[in-house]
Amino acid sequence: MLDKIVIANRGEIALRVLRACKELGIKTVAVHSKADESLMHVRLADESVCIGPNSPVESYLNIPAIISAAEVTDATGIHPGYGFLSENADFAEQVERSGFTFIGPKPDVIRLMGDKVSAIAAMKEAGVPTVPGSDGPITDDDERTLEIARRIGYPVIIKASGGGGGRGMRVVHRESALLNSISLTQSEAKAAFNNDVVYLEKFLENPRHVEFQVLSDNHGNAIHLGDRDCSLQRRHQKVIEEAPAPGIDEDARATVAAACTKACVEIGYSGAGTFEFLYEDGKFYFIEMNTRVQVEHPVTEMISGVDIVREQIRIASGLPLSISQEDVKLEGHAFECRINAEDPKTFMPSPGLVNQFHAPGGNGVRVDSHLYSGYSIPPYYDSLIAKIITYGPDRETALTRMRNALDEAVVDGIRTNIPLHQDLVKDKNFQEGGVSIHYLEKKLEES
Ligand code: ADP
Repeated sequence: MLDKIVIANRGEIALRVLRACKELGIKTVAVHSKADESLMHVRLADESVCIGPNSPVESYLNIPAIISAAEVTDATGIHPGYGFLSENADFAEQVERSGFTFIGPKPDVIRLMGDKVSAIAAMKEAGVPTVPGSDGPITDDDERTLEIARRIGYPVIIKASGGGGGRGMRVVHRESALLNSISLTQSEAKAAFNNDVVYLEKFLENPRHVEFQVLSDNHGNAIHLGDRDCSLQRRHQKVIEEAPAPGIDEDARATVAAACTKACVEIGYSGAGTFEFLYEDGKFYFIEMNTRVQVEHPVTEMISGVDIVREQIRIASGLPLSISQEDVKLEGHAFECRINAEDPKTFMPSPGLVNQFHAPGGNGVRVDSHLYSGYSIPPYYDSLIAKIITYGPDRETALTRMRNALDEAVVDGIRTNIPLHQDLVKDKNFQEGGVSIHYLEKKLEES
């Protein structure tokens, strides 16, 4: 087992990883920017190293600084969390080359799945259903491009192969706008991801976002821990997630889950991963794979009882999965509300001093947060400050517990999106389950 791990991240996920390490008896090294000296996990880690100034580029994205921190502290592994360098194949490669263990899949697998065009091709090969599309990059043969779009049928969505975080996408409703929109997306993608490859997909009008959690070791074993519904999104960013996804066709679910684990074995996947799908009219369409732990992993942990971060660390240590597919029992229902430091109406970030923080509690309530009273949220990073997760034997109980938990939570001193969540968990359609990915944006427009 790895004996000392550098946590190359910040905020709630850094704390999450630290807790898993402590449970496993692994020493921890927190690396942090100047502004993050007072982060909760920095205080709790065995050692800490300041890796640079506040700007993420100079700190959490600074590969040489993170590797040096591992060297000076004699660490053996590096956990990237999510975001930052977690899906950066070059980082994984440099970590391994420097003699450390990267807690995640092999660099070439990250590269394969990080490029959406090659990921889709690999998934098709493994028998995973994909969205009807251009099946490859758009070339400069305009006639051919127009032909492809006609075959797919409008509306189509232009997507950057290297895109992520909801960026690098553009919907086109008419042929007259296609070519111009493609060149715009190409130049944006070039600037944002240094990769101007774009492709086309059918724009599904009313899909849900349903994803499967997988775990795969280095011994040829792959399992899935069921699915999550993450349809409640704003600007392609998830707001509330739940597990399992309600009202899914059981045959389609079982077929896709099996295809995902088969694909893991075929591509030589190791670690935790997520296959993201759109789900419409009882059918699944693969959109991308995330080769890291996800923000919403706790809802799966609640219904499966499996500690996903612990499994990641065990797998990276070379151990086989601690459970087989037959051992996985999915029971009950879980929700997660992402609490952000932002105005609940304008969505403007609201960093600053948290005078008082009171986390909700009780039966079936889990709060993953790095907040404490007196903590000052810096303005340089993502606005996620807490995840409130509730569990119940059934969906209704889990949702009632979420309503109560949101009412109990106190974050005084800054604005948060708790009022938005309070509103959403009382929404009739959301309560019924199965709203589409466009539901929240439409609701916000109407209010
Ligand atoms: P990212 O890597 O930026 O997260 P994804 O490919 O996962 O990009 O897509 C993010 C979101 O964009 C999806 O959850 C969905 O809301 C929307 N989306 C992506 N592809 C399509 C499509 N073909 N039709 C409709 N919506 C889509």
